[in-house]
Amino acid sequence: MPGTNDFPAEESAVDELDIAPENGWNALYLDGEWVPAGDRDLIEVENPATRTPLTRVPSSTEDDVDEAYAIADEAQAAWANRPPQERAGIVADACALLGEYAADLATLFAVECGGVQLKADFETQLAQGTMEVGSGLAMRDGGRRKESVTPGKENLLVREPAGVVGVITPWNFPLYLSSRVVAPAIALGNSVVLKPDEHTPLTGGLVLAKIFEEAGLPAGVLNVVPGYGHEIGDHFSGHSVPSVMAFTGSSEVGRGVGQRAVGSYTEPALELGGNNAHIVLEDADVARAVDAGAFGSFTHQGQECISINRHLVHESLYDEYVAGLADRAEQLPIGDPREEGTLVGPVINESQRDKIVGFLEESIERGATVEAGGNHDGLFIEPTVLSDVTADMPAACNEHFGPVAPVIPFETDEEAIRIANGTDYGLSGSVHSSDVARARDVADALETGMVHINDQPLNDEPHVAFGGVGASGMGRYNDEWIMDTLTTLKWISIQREPREYPY
Ligand code: NAD
Repeated sequence: MPGTNDFPAEESAVDELDIAPENGWNALYLDGEWVPAGDRDLIEVENPATRTPLTRVPSSTEDDVDEAYAIADEAQAAWANRPPQERAGIVADACALLGEYAADLATLFAVECGGVQLKADFETQLAQGTMEVGSGLAMRDGGRRKESVTPGKENLLVREPAGVVGVITPWNFPLYLSSRVVAPAIALGNSVVLKPDEHTPLTGGLVLAKIFEEAGLPAGVLNVVPGYGHEIGDHFSGHSVPSVMAFTGSSEVGRGVGQRAVGSYTEPALELGGNNAHIVLEDADVARAVDAGAFGSFTHQGQECISINRHLVHESLYDEYVAGLADRAEQLPIGDPREEGTLVGPVINESQRDKIVGFLEESIERGATVEAGGNHDGLFIEPTVLSDVTADMPAACNEHFGPVAPVIPFETDEEAIRIANGTDYGLSGSVHSSDVARARDVADALETGMVHINDQPLNDEPHVAFGGVGASGMGRYNDEWIMDTLTTLKWISIQREPREYPY
């Protein structure tokens, strides 16, 4: 791929890829064409591990957004009229291509968002899973027949595609979080305009477009406008064309996106932040709880909405749990995600690092004790375990989104529930106990969309409802639940006999 991006820097990892458009990634994907950046401003994408430039993409403008929506609108009806097996087949072919390009994708996850091989494997599997489930939706649940209270009438509920779907996604699991909307939307006969995060325009958008292009998706059904959220986000999310605005990202930005969408009569589907509690009851198996706690806190540097944000541990197990978790944290290999065996890579950017380090320092000032880690170098933050934490400390009461494990003691199950629920968020959580009925009582009392007993919160299965309550979002993704969002039901009644009207 010589000469891509007109890029002056040393060899970029994107030049090694088998998957790439002919003219490189410095383009928008509109109406099946790779539209060069031209005189648009450029977004410089950086490798967070090496802090070296990776690639450039165009910074799409509001006019680009208008054009993308107009193209999607124009393409949608013809696409919806294609036979369902054709729509399903294209999504299934895209799924197969993800497998073929798995090595390229792993490279891209490493250099674009600092993801290690383990994370690349998870993400590729999740993206494949959502495509498998999504492709199946094309052939499922075309509608229903309902009895009528009016003699001689037949009621039909016909399921139709919603229309044009706007999709905004973040940088942490970019390919998966985009695919989990794009794949079912396309299978169900919608068209899509996708705005990936500015840090991950390739894995979050342009690579997905390339894969669907190779899978044979007709022009105009999927359009990708890389761009800065603070520049085009308001215009994108308040646009009059889309019927659905599927947003994954922070609660703060999501609230504005939802308000703008509703202002344009667009249905919002919001997957937002979390402050997930990992609760270890007094009768828990500590070793199991520590294993789960380490995985849930440090995977992808804690940068998942469903990562453990707080560990709540019964006071009788507290010291043993903290020592076990600190031991696990100290053993995790940190480094460049492309080096074999690395388990902890960099966080995405300086502002995230500064936010995480700020929460750490303020919590330490307020009495928290560092049991492991605590240092940072560049964008690498050591997996850090904090003891003597109270629920109101900055590392605990905020979504820290880093490799940080604040551990809070509690005395009773009721107190654990109260602390866990003491947040506006309500995404995921976990409860450890040797008594499943007791854990189930706690799970029932947690104000979250998801709870995992004797596991940790970091779970997503593409055929199971995913989502949160409160500041963690509105609606559910995956399978039949995202199908409800991405389709609309039309009531068609047929009056088969003359009807008697009152006058
Ligand atoms: P963010 O909200 O800053 O950005 C997410 C997306 O929104 C990006 O594409 C960004 O460009 C765009 N954006 C920014 N300003 C916008 C605006 N005014 N209008 C429209 N779009 C705009 O989030 P982030 O920091 O990149 O991602 C991390 C957050 O995402 C965390 O809070 C995390 O919990 C959440 N998240 C949630 C889920 C979930 O499924 N619930 C999954 C992953 C991440």
